[in-house]
Amino acid sequence: MGGFFPGSFLFGAGLLWIPSASLIMRGPAASLVKRFHHKTGAGLGEKLMRLPTRTQVAIIGAGPAGLLLGQLLHKAGIEAVILEQRSADYVLGRIRAGVIEQTTAQLLERAGVGARMQAEGLVHHGFSLCVDGVRQRIDLSRHTGGKTVTVYGQTEITRDLMQARKASGLLTAYEAENVTPLDFDTAQPKVRFEADGALHELSCDIIAGCDGFHGICRASVPQSAITLYEKIYPFGWLGLLADVPPVDDELIYVRHARGFALCSMRSKTRSRYYLQCDLNDSVANWSDDAFWAELRRRLDPAAAAALTTGPSLEKSIAPLRSFVAEPLRFGRLFLAGDAAHIVPPTGAKGLNLAASDVHYLVEALEGFFRSGQDAALVHYSPRALARIWKAERFSWWFTSLLHRFDGAESAFDERLRGAELAYLMQSEAAQAALAENYVGLGF
Ligand SMILES: Cc1cc2nc3c(=O)[nH]c(=O)nc-3n(C[C@H](O)[C@H](O)[C@H](O)COP(=O)(O)OP(=O)(O)OC[C@H]3O[C@@H](n4cnc5c(N)ncnc54)[C@H](O)[C@@H]3O)c2cc1C
Repeated sequence: MGGFFPGSFLFGAGLLWIPSASLIMRGPAASLVKRFHHKTGAGLGEKLMRLPTRTQVAIIGAGPAGLLLGQLLHKAGIEAVILEQRSADYVLGRIRAGVIEQTTAQLLERAGVGARMQAEGLVHHGFSLCVDGVRQRIDLSRHTGGKTVTVYGQTEITRDLMQARKASGLLTAYEAENVTPLDFDTAQPKVRFEADGALHELSCDIIAGCDGFHGICRASVPQSAITLYEKIYPFGWLGLLADVPPVDDELIYVRHARGFALCSMRSKTRSRYYLQCDLNDSVANWSDDAFWAELRRRLDPAAAAALTTGPSLEKSIAPLRSFVAEPLRFGRLFLAGDAAHIVPPTGAKGLNLAASDVHYLVEALEGFFRSGQDAALVHYSPRALARIWKAERFSWWFTSLLHRFDGAESAFDERLRGAELAYLMQSEAAQAALAENYVGLGF
């Protein structure tokens, strides 16, 4: 085991120079950065820097899971290098999650990146269910002893984490190609990758696979060591982002004979709307006018009348899937976030589950680096999976309840769904269970 050496990057014999729009460094490298900065007078983004050959935790992927893990490890005095295949701008350009559980918000505060979320995030105490034109408010706070969710975009969380990383001089290597985790069944794992046309090797104690659903880490595990559970839904979500005020102060989840819809937002001036669509549908089939007209049809009359429309900033179609990989640990390789599981976005759990994985992983890694014992690592997978499966259940249930299945289920199933919706709209107990899961279960 490499031990606990805050600030101690070890450099290989060979100097490796790479264009550093992609790099931010700490430790011995930081002085190199300054010298170069003074010599050239160039901005930070234009300097050339060296890459370390050793760290404690090699994190693959700079999405929310990888960046939050890096930040919390830094707070705990554990070194990490993040390797990301895309550019920072590309990562920031992905429009995704927007609803943050209270536990996730607390974790971001603990990581020291909560200030802008607190200042600009919208705290929501409830949301509405609209079933065939009738709206029912679900009072999250009343049913959960005062808990709330915060509307704050994944893009903003990512930006805050990137800036915190940069301010601390921590290393993220963007545009790293052919990143490959190796020897993770031994105590000396390493990650091989290419940058600036050269091959590099980063040796480490731990590899954290935070590289999303299509990443390399899960794919590197022998098939016999992993079990995959998956459910594909027979529909997708057509999403539209626009700089228009939201139709309501809170989210509206819509069940309608024409299909599901969701009225969400990123701020008081930026709205995010979704329509259930066919899996084979294409964005090219949807002009902005067609989107707004279809959304109006699925809303209740008051919401339809209040809807402000405008030109789309972004439109995309996402398929819906439930997926879990088990276990989450393979020797010294750990999976976290979308690399390990996917939920349909209906329950707003994906980003939040990535955060809870990171919470459990940081606890395990702190124990490991403190004690030097592999025994500290054994609880990560079962603890994280217990919470993951509860969120999978909730996301599947909420998705099944609100979407149209178009013959993919029997008429009996349809009648049961109608009865469940009627029960939910009337029963305080059912609404309390929905609220408890929506605000997020405790760690
Ligand atoms: C339309 C939509 C709406 C959503 N709404 C919500 C919501 O409201 N609430 C919520 O909680 N969640 C939501 N989600 C889910 C949420 O966005 C994801 O769960 C979250 O991004 C997971 O973070 P992650 O860091 O695990 O994975 P990712 O964000 O996918 O990040 C993985 C990173 O790894 C990088 N990578 C991949 N392969 C490699 C490689 N080989 N080498 C190096 N780097 C690699 C990728 O480029 C990426 O930057 C939504 C998702 C979608 C698509």
